[in-house]
Amino acid sequence: MSTKLSTTRQKADIIAIANQKGGVGKTTTTINLATALAAANKKVLLIDMDPQGNASTGLGSERDNRDNSIYEILMGEIDLADAIVPSIVPGLFLVPSTVDLAGAELELVHEAGRTFRLRKALQTPIIDDFDYILIDCPPSLSLLTLNALAAAHSVIVPLQCEFFALEGLSLLLRTIETVKANFNPGLTIEGVVLTMFDGRNNLSGQVANDVRGYLGQKVFKTVIPRNVRVSEAPSHGKPVLLYDYKCSGSQAYIRLAKELIGRERSKAA
Ligand code: ADP
Ligand code: MG
Repeated sequence: MSTKLSTTRQKADIIAIANQKGGVGKTTTTINLATALAAANKKVLLIDMDPQGNASTGLGSERDNRDNSIYEILMGEIDLADAIVPSIVPGLFLVPSTVDLAGAELELVHEAGRTFRLRKALQTPIIDDFDYILIDCPPSLSLLTLNALAAAHSVIVPLQCEFFALEGLSLLLRTIETVKANFNPGLTIEGVVLTMFDGRNNLSGQVANDVRGYLGQKVFKTVIPRNVRVSEAPSHGKPVLLYDYKCSGSQAYIRLAKELIGRERSKAA
């Protein structure tokens, strides 16, 4: 029996990309995993839940062109469908964010059901048009992240291979357990993805080993290397797959998408 959003299994897999730490590769992973899934003929919706709007900008959405955004959806002013726009990637659609979103937390503080705003918004037939819905979370465990975790089927955690990575991870895992217990019993951890991996740096390798020792199969086999092309792409308003398809970062995100699709298949079997 499914414990997901409704009793009949929705087609779309809803995945939150979360880590309360900033700069670990959440947005980069959301944009490029979404692009690689779309390149594999999946229909994908990216929901930008970060007031910084980097995922929106990184997919070519112009700031002045975001009349309908995730903010209006969370405020109950518009439906999800009203804010979905095509991105520069065929098959990948976007719900953009704006700086207004930074005020949402305060504006919703006295509202009943404030944690379930996104979940409620996703209870609409249009989401059955999609195979994957990826939610880019802000760098905090705020109401916005809680909304994403309460709406998602699973979580992908990008983790930078650095010294305090494991400590941050255990805080996030505790938060996920709290969300499961209180808001979303069906929530699972899709996987941890190691980002900005530097093979020449011993610490990177050691952190990767520790994380695999701690979480085993939950860590994606695919590791995202540190690659300057990945960091250059956003300033061109493009995912790295469109900017430089052959670079090591693009190739890693293609493998990550394949691994994710393969996991979904083995779950369904
Ligand atoms: P977050 O969303 O977690 O705050 P970002 O995805 O914005 O993190 O990444 C933080 C910074 O690191 C950005 O400048 C981004 O371009 C850069 N970056 C992310 N992944 C890589 C990578 N694999 N190689 C090089 N730079 C990267
Ligand atoms: Mg980000």
